Amino acid sequence: MPFRDKNIETLPRDELEKLQVKRLKDTVARCKKSIFYRNRLKDIDESLFTTPKDVSMIPFTTKDDLRANYDFGLVTVPKEEIVRMHSSSGTTGKATVIFHTREDIETWSDLVARCIVMTGACKADVFQNIISYGLFTGGLGLHYGAEKVGMLTIPSGAGNTKRQIQLMKDFNTTVFHATPSYILYVSEVMVQEEFDPKEFDLRIGFVGAEPHSEQTRQRIEDIYDINVFNSYGMSELNGPGVAFECEEKSGMHLWEDSYLLEVVNPDTGEVLAPGEEGELVITTLSREAMPILRYRTGDLARIVDEGDKCSCGRTHVRISRIKGRCDDMLIVKGVNLYPSRIEEVLMSFPEVAANYQIVLEREGCLDSLTVRVELYPKMFDGDLRKLKKLEADITKSIQDEIIIRPRIEFHEYRSLPRSEGKAVRVVDMRGEI
Ligand code: AMP
Ligand code: ZN
Repeated sequence: MPFRDKNIETLPRDELEKLQVKRLKDTVARCKKSIFYRNRLKDIDESLFTTPKDVSMIPFTTKDDLRANYDFGLVTVPKEEIVRMHSSSGTTGKATVIFHTREDIETWSDLVARCIVMTGACKADVFQNIISYGLFTGGLGLHYGAEKVGMLTIPSGAGNTKRQIQLMKDFNTTVFHATPSYILYVSEVMVQEEFDPKEFDLRIGFVGAEPHSEQTRQRIEDIYDINVFNSYGMSELNGPGVAFECEEKSGMHLWEDSYLLEVVNPDTGEVLAPGEEGELVITTLSREAMPILRYRTGDLARIVDEGDKCSCGRTHVRISRIKGRCDDMLIVKGVNLYPSRIEEVLMSFPEVAANYQIVLEREGCLDSLTVRVELYPKMFDGDLRKLKKLEADITKSIQDEIIIRPRIEFHEYRSLPRSEGKAVRVVDMRGEI
């Protein structure tokens, strides 16, 4: 079982918690140097902290706080110490910016390197980083980690699919990093170009940056005949390298020497018991330029185990697949609904291709839900009965899952819009009530 930093990855829980308390105290003291936290933390005496749970004495930090303190409001070091800026992808509202010192980049790259090694990837691998470079953290984050591991790193970025395939072929890529939706698209183009996705040297894929189901992972694994690992992170907490799956693939290990995790009720902020599903709230424990306390990630998940050692030997807590964001929860006909539930159903039908769209409209005063589904070409052979039956089966399965009865629209293979980055799955045309 490969480790990058075995001591810290397998540290007994009591020692890990001691380390967290120490780093939490240091982080709070450091935060007090920033314009934003100086005031926010004036009543907090971190010297009294004795357990990681004491973090709950500190107020939450939200995305709105980051926006309101744009640009340097949370920075704790002189500007000349800063070597890098990143930004969130800003799908909702104004972007937030994050700064790093040279030491921050080192720490972050070490965390990512730990994740890479944890999946069984190694120095001998050729790594193609098929994800945006630039302000988005996915590109540079994995890039620096992969170089630390010593992999031959190809910074191919997202897009230009035919060139991606050519690079994979010419340089015998064995490991890639991509969004799940884009790597599925790459496989479609391979087939169109008369390649078999299995004929490449690929053996491992890292996928993340957007919610996806277990079924989607399995689909990617089957299409390419590889092992696929889920990668979780966000720019506010560096980017990738926050939590990642090990070879057991039973939850993502969240690196507790660098991140202190809480799961809270998204409506009340109340801290939930281990195992309950809620919003992840994360405090950075090893950041210099811009530490963040109790950050409301907006991501919904649960702790898969606590104290229970993973069979890989790592002691760091595991979190479940991200179910979605609190704010991408849809309310349709009064029912709370996560797009991921629909995806799970769709991907269980082998006739259905990977790309889909959920369209919400208002007809009179009622919501309507249409699921646009791409079918593989073999389904359009003139046999209408077959299509009707599939439509009925998908409708029923979705209705069983989400209560609401959807309208199913079949589309030709590769006709729905695609994205090279995070997929846009929901088109909400209901407007304001
Ligand atoms: P950004 O800061 O632009 O990198 O966006 C981060 C957000 O992407 C997170 O807060 C999550 O909502 C989402 N995200 C990142 N990784 C994953 C993942 N593995 N599964 C589901 N959602 C993810
Ligand atoms: Zn493990």
